[in-house]
This record gives sequence, structure tokens and C-alpha cells, in this order.
Amino acid sequence: TTPVLELVDLVAGYRSRHGLLGRRNEVRAVAGVSLSVSAGETVCLVGESGCGKSTVARAVVSLLRPFSGEVRFDGRNVTGLKGRELKNLRRQVQLVFQDPYASLNPKMTVRELISEAWRIHPGIVEPDGWDAEVARLLERVGLNPGHAERYPHQFSGGQRQRISIARALAVRPRLIVCDEAVSALDVSIQAQVLTLLRELQRDLGVAYLFITHDLGVVRHFADRVAVMHLGSIVESGDTEQIYEHAEHPYTRALLSAAPSVEDWRDDAENGEIVLTGDVPSPLNPPPGCRFHTRCWKAQDRCRTEEPELLERGTGHPVACHFPATDPVAAM
Ligand code: SF4
Ligand code: MG
Repeated sequence: TTPVLELVDLVAGYRSRHGLLGRRNEVRAVAGVSLSVSAGETVCLVGESGCGKSTVARAVVSLLRPFSGEVRFDGRNVTGLKGRELKNLRRQVQLVFQDPYASLNPKMTVRELISEAWRIHPGIVEPDGWDAEVARLLERVGLNPGHAERYPHQFSGGQRQRISIARALAVRPRLIVCDEAVSALDVSIQAQVLTLLRELQRDLGVAYLFITHDLGVVRHFADRVAVMHLGSIVESGDTEQIYEHAEHPYTRALLSAAPSVEDWRDDAENGEIVLTGDVPSPLNPPPGCRFHTRCWKAQDRCRTEEPELLERGTGHPVACHFPATDPVAAM
């Protein structure tokens, strides 16, 4: 079956000007990403801040027009859609941000915040049914349906994220892009929100593209994981493959630094992998493997030849000339 979302060699970013009279350069925050998400599936895109994952999110929800490549929705290229078609797409793909307080208008009540979506997208719920539907959605996300007349500041951070989720669900989307959606929350609240998202997926069949810097969060949540470094996916696979058989040095470093992943705690105590060197700028990425300035396994070939994302006989694709075959603890 056709995936809900497909990214095909997506190149995206922004234009920057060098110097006073400078030319405008394309800064490729996303340097050729391919990825798919099926109906009802959860794909996690993981990487450090600045790796381009939020740029992917913005391209997926068509807040940003890519330089090249395609964003396909149900098999159809949707880059550059306008007018009614763009509006229809925006209904089907919702975005939930890290900071619900910044994305929820503080002057609107919860009822107004949720029903606004039906004003923008008429035909989903008729106005005389709005109050009942708001109450139903609040109950669905674990909030008191009697609190519809309250304002965002009257809720806790976790509750505000539940309001954002209710608002996203109001238009009955097929895909929700969660950009660091639980990163600002305490660990116990994170777990509650992830549980809620899973239940909603089970009941509604919604797909998630879940974007995070924290591999520790996604182990029991993701179906598949794609690891992004400086604009490219360097490794992807089923969640268990990534956690049990990570091959790319960068993925291993991320796992080593993930304190919430129990299985890796021993390894961390035996000497966590600490990445040295700054994250290179996407303005001026290193030649060859973009990770070579920070990789402890780098050899001459890595400095000149960019590794492709290929399945190298180990069951899932990895972009490294010298993928690991040893268990992580042996490093
Ligand atoms: Fe490290 Fe070389 Fe693999 Fe890049 S290609 S991750 S520099 S070993
Ligand atoms: Mg970001």
C-alpha cells in the first residue's frame, strides 16, 4: 500500500547572504532526505539540534518550500500546492510543537482554540455540534470536559500539550508531525503523553512523524527510527534494529548518551561515548562523511568519499564506510 507520507530526496533550508554585497547562498539544512510513513505507523526522526529535523517538519506541513525533491502525500507530490488544495492538505497533516504555550493563543479559551479549526475547515463539525465535540475531544485526551472555558495558562505543561493534541485531532488528520512534542515535559509526564498518543493511534489509525533529539524517549514508542546528522539520514531501521544493532558511530554515540535507556546504562558507566568537536555548520559542511570531524573511527577514505545510505549486509541501511559489527559494549 502507498505510504501516507513519502519524502523523496528532499533538499530544503534557507537562503543566506554572505557579506554586504554577497550572493545569496542556499543553506541546505536538509541535504537529500528520503523517508516514508505508512498509515497508522510511528516513525521517529532523531538527531541533535541543528541537524535539520525541524526543517523536515516544516517542509512536511508545507510551511517551507523545498529547494528540490518531493513531499508526497498518499502518493501525490504536494510541494507547491496552493489555495484550496493546500488548505485540504493542511487539514490532513497537523503539527504539534514543543512549546504548547507558544502555539496556543493565550487569549482564547480551550473551546475557542479547538473550534477555531472547524471555522477554518468548514464541513467537519457543524456549529451547533461544536460544544459537544469539544467536550468529547477533551475527554478523549484525558482532560476534564468541564474546563472548556478555561485559558491555556490555567493548565500545566502536560495538560497544555493535551490541548494541542485535541486541537490537532479536531480536524481528523491522517498524519501528525510532533516536533519535540514531549521534550519540555518531565519524564513522567512525557510517558503519559506518549501513552495517550499510542492510544489515539490505536483507536484512530493516525500516523506520526515524531521528531526528537532524545533517542531514550522513543524506544517503546517508535515502529521505525531514522537517525539524522547534519542534513542527512545516517541510519534507519526498525526500532529494535536501531537499539540492538546500531552500526553508525553517531547512532552509537546518541544511544550511549541516552540515560533513560536502561539497557545502555552499563555501557555508559563503562565510559560513555562523548563526541568531541563542534557540530559543523550546514553552511559549510565537511567534505566526505559529514561526521568525520567528530568520528573516532574516521580514516582517510571518510575525509573524501561521502558514504551512501545502503544496506551493508546487516539488515538495515547505514551511511558509513566502516559500520560496526561488534556489540556496542565492546567499543
Ligand atoms: Fe566515521 Fe568514516 Fe563511518 Fe563517517 S564513514 S561515520 S567518518 S567511520
Ligand atoms: Mg528543532
